Amino acid sequence: MKILRASRMERCIGCHSCSLACARLVHKRLSWNTAGIRISSAGGLSTGFEARTCVACNPAPCATACPTGAFSQRKGGGVKVDRSLCIRCGNCAEACPVEAIYIDPEESFPYVCIHCGRCVPFCPHACLELADADEGRQEYGGGQGTGTGRDHGGQ
Ligand code: SF4
Ligand code: SF4
Repeated sequence: MKILRASRMERCIGCHSCSLACARLVHKRLSWNTAGIRISSAGGLSTGFEARTCVACNPAPCATACPTGAFSQRKGGGVKVDRSLCIRCGNCAEACPVEAIYIDPEESFPYVCIHCGRCVPFCPHACLELADADEGRQEYGGGQGTGTGRDHGGQ
């Protein structure tokens, strides 16, 4: 089982190509807010960017918090999503320790990375990769990988 890993965020230029690819190809939406991976400035004195996306918890607190089974444990970490079961209570987002679940304000539906890897080839600087679950999981204070943004040197 593979998981998405933002392992080279020091190369990120904040182009949001990954988010747009996810929103359009996976979630069939145009807003990059509805993507399973969202990019933002690292803040402070840093000029870099960080990726906020699922870190593939195993067990996943969001799945445990879901009362309907709309979010269920994915083998290897993270969650599977059955949109038809979602009652839009928001429990999943509250339970996520890295704020990786986005609740759309219009329809109150949760959006999360499903580790499909569709975003990976759209990154012009190869910041993202699919890694084996056992090797790829990392611990983060919030989201995945923060880069300085200084190394934009290709793939
Ligand atoms: S909002 Fe949907 S997916 Fe999230 S906990 Fe509630 S029912 Fe489950
Ligand atoms: S969405 Fe959040 S709580 Fe759920 S598996 Fe991913 S990081 Fe963990």
